[in-house]
Amino acid sequence: MTTQGVAILGSTGSIGTTALKVLSRHTDRFRVAALTAFSNAQLLSRQADEFHPSFLGLVSDGEEGQAAIVSNGASRHHASGRACLIEAATRPDVDIVLNAVVGAAGLDATLAALECGKRVALANKETLVMAGHLVAQAMQRGGGEIVPVDSEHSAILQCIAGRAREDVKRVVLTASGGPFRDWPREKLAVATAEEALRHPTWRMGKKITVDSATLANKGLEVIEAHYLFGLAFDQIDIVVHPQSVIHSFVEFVDGSVLAQMGAPSMELPVLYALTHPRRIQDDASVRFDPVALSPLTFERVRHDDFPALRLAIAAGKASGAAPAVFNAANEQAVEIFLQGKMTFGEIPRAIEAALDALSDAPADSREAVQAADARARAFVREKLGC
Ligand code: NAD
Ligand code: MG
Repeated sequence: MTTQGVAILGSTGSIGTTALKVLSRHTDRFRVAALTAFSNAQLLSRQADEFHPSFLGLVSDGEEGQAAIVSNGASRHHASGRACLIEAATRPDVDIVLNAVVGAAGLDATLAALECGKRVALANKETLVMAGHLVAQAMQRGGGEIVPVDSEHSAILQCIAGRAREDVKRVVLTASGGPFRDWPREKLAVATAEEALRHPTWRMGKKITVDSATLANKGLEVIEAHYLFGLAFDQIDIVVHPQSVIHSFVEFVDGSVLAQMGAPSMELPVLYALTHPRRIQDDASVRFDPVALSPLTFERVRHDDFPALRLAIAAGKASGAAPAVFNAANEQAVEIFLQGKMTFGEIPRAIEAALDALSDAPADSREAVQAADARARAFVREKLGC
């Protein structure tokens, strides 16, 4: 059997390291062809020693990091700067691009991979949110495809794969509720970064962990589901499910409901994004034990206390530049929050102000989307005096 080459963009992060763990169990089918990281040259070098990719990319061009990469196997091709993401994503020995970069920085690589006809296993949801229509156009032009890694969207795909799209009535995304699910509103407003980073069920990168605390993450996921599955916004609902065992529901037109479930781990969604629509034997998967995972409970979303979700849905419905503005304002606000320079309650207020001021702008090209992104970041920095 010939192996498929996998490029991992963001290999040093939470999803990236999970993916390498999964790939190490399936070397008969997949070969690690390219790895990129932002600045962690030491870990990238260790990964290269173990997986022998033909290409390594380090985005930040600090001399120390580059030296570590260069000294690691002179025969290996390596590159630096932002362009290394596109190079990794478009190499001829790459069949699948796992985009596990965090934030808008992943957009160009997704577009380039799709233009080249590759499969993009997409963890980097921000890409779809900011430029869903450009992603669809790139897919059409190049013949590439997107398979989601996000656990909720992987669950939906697993429930609908092989069925007619008209049979789907609506989907219900599950949300853990994050660390502040049952916090009173007054306490929420002044929650600290340290508190926001204590997620009850998932171990993830810092940005998505804060997004899970504000519910901005669920908002991004609503827009992601809209683009991935061609669903109208009123066909996408959300329910809080603190145990994170049911990864989402699909309701069909005859009233039947399917759910996909399993212990909270990203290993299965990563593996399924590589093998879809097939499945392969994976001996490390945790045996499903419904009694050990019980009870499973469900609650309504506290929309008034977590306004970022409502703002994301409104931005998705408004379309145009609004989703890109939402995403960029959120990314900038989270960065400032993590630096301890603003309160938790100010995050949605900053996003709302940016949306009010900047949504009405074109978004019909990559340049227009990047411009909307840059304006939103500058707006939030200025508003908060950073
Ligand atoms: P992380 O912070 O742990 O890792 C991010 C990776 O991207 C790192 O390898 C880093 O080097 C790289 N990176 C960061 N900034 C970059 C830049 N400007 N240019 C190029 N590379 C850069 O994040 P994560 O938790 O692994 O999340 C990655 C993506 O996957 C996010 O879009 C997140 O929303 C999505 N996601 C994550 C999980 C999870 O369980 N962690 C689940 C669902 C979706
Ligand atoms: Mg998710």
